[in-house]
Amino acid sequence: MNQRIASIQSRIIAMQTQQTATKTVQQTNQSGGGANTDFASYLQDAVAQTPTSGRTYSLNAKGIPTDLAAYGNGKIPPGALEPVGNTRHKLWAPAAESLTRMIADAEKDGVKIGITDSYRPYAEQVDLAKRKGLYSQGGLAAKPGTSEHGWGMATDLDLNAKALAWVRENGAKYDFYNTASRESWHWGYKPKSA
Ligand SMILES: [Zn+2]
Repeated sequence: MNQRIASIQSRIIAMQTQQTATKTVQQTNQSGGGANTDFASYLQDAVAQTPTSGRTYSLNAKGIPTDLAAYGNGKIPPGALEPVGNTRHKLWAPAAESLTRMIADAEKDGVKIGITDSYRPYAEQVDLAKRKGLYSQGGLAAKPGTSEHGWGMATDLDLNAKALAWVRENGAKYDFYNTASRESWHWGYKPKSA
């Protein structure tokens, strides 16, 4: 009787060992599947980083571009921004596209809009604040790290009287507003539906 029990016990142990072995193989397969998932998510990220016109953009609760927020004001890598037309100036992609259209439409009206400045890195914001003083103290510079330029959300335009009148009349159609009352050249991008 004891012998039979011992024999059954040893068979149970053998079966358990087999089950464990099977589980190990399954786990190995699962982690292989995990590698595939990693590749899929890597591919998804890579695709998401490829600029496409069909991409959707949004602003977070603070009005900051969701895709740029993590970089920080004035710390956005050039590749995350988009050029305005064929200029060297860069802005948040929707702002760049809207400004490109605004400049082209103005040109059709015989109005020339130039760009003096656009995205402004943090170091340049610090330099500007030193040279021009803080806006809050009567100067012309935002507190470094808070500038609309630091999010690629504002542009300083080079406007003659005719062009200034045109932008004042038409800017809102392109979601550009004169967001600094003492700076007729400063136009912030404030999309209604982002
Ligand atoms: Zn400005």
